[in-house]
Amino acid sequence: MISGLITKGIGGFYDVRTPDGIVICKGRGLFRKDNFILSVGDEVMIEVEKDGTGTIREIIPRKNAFIRPPVANLDQIVIVISLARPAPNFTILDRLLVMAEKSQIDIVIGFNKIDLASSEDMSKAAEIYGNIYPTVFFCGKSGEGIESLEEHLKNRRTAFAGPSGVGKSTLLNRLHGQIRMETGNISEKTSRGKHTTRHVELFEMPFGGMVFDTPGFTSFDVLDAEEDELQYCFPEFAPYIGKCRFNSCRHINEPGCAVKDAVSQGIVHSSRYHSYVSFYQEINLKRRY
Ligand code: ZN
Repeated sequence: MISGLITKGIGGFYDVRTPDGIVICKGRGLFRKDNFILSVGDEVMIEVEKDGTGTIREIIPRKNAFIRPPVANLDQIVIVISLARPAPNFTILDRLLVMAEKSQIDIVIGFNKIDLASSEDMSKAAEIYGNIYPTVFFCGKSGEGIESLEEHLKNRRTAFAGPSGVGKSTLLNRLHGQIRMETGNISEKTSRGKHTTRHVELFEMPFGGMVFDTPGFTSFDVLDAEEDELQYCFPEFAPYIGKCRFNSCRHINEPGCAVKDAVSQGIVHSSRYHSYVSFYQEINLKRRY
């Protein structure tokens, strides 16, 4: 048996990258009894037949896995947000951040379309997020600032998330000219239904590291979080949690709240705090009805 990495899976056949090259493997049904679905990113042990095809025999335990899209063993997620056309939506960004925090995966924020952005929006983005997450500013279309993003991708397995229209396809094509995503523009222009029929693929980047080209990762649902865990999805709250007057403080309207104090002192950004309050209420409302 030899070890390999699943880089593509369509209709029960998997491309497995091995030290000897790509081996096309069958895997369907193999793990069905355990209700286990093989995913792109899975490390596997395969047996190669005489005809050069292979069979997946074993899966190395995963570091993490997602169901939609089905990917495994991610090192990090880059959340891409457009700074112009469409204008930056920091509430959507905060939603995506909460969901990524829930997955306990490393996060990088990529602000795209700096060529079209106003200097106000650029500095606002840096001011709100620069102290919380690694942030990079670039233009996927022209390539400006793309090296700083590549630095974050080196030697890591990365997936990109972000709402449609932020220029993810252009960016991926820029990072790796050969991707030429079949969907290219389509994925950003047509309806969601078509978008989800795309397959997942893991690409090696010319500068080192691998990138998952996936549909999805667009519709993270903040409502999947519980009220109590929401506060931990805002890492800048961490120094204040446990320091409020009440142990059960929700940081909404309680007196003596250390988080709210940090907001009024400008240490925690009010834009982030407003997202927290609105998500909290959203989750609370959903639970009651
Ligand atoms: Zn509090």
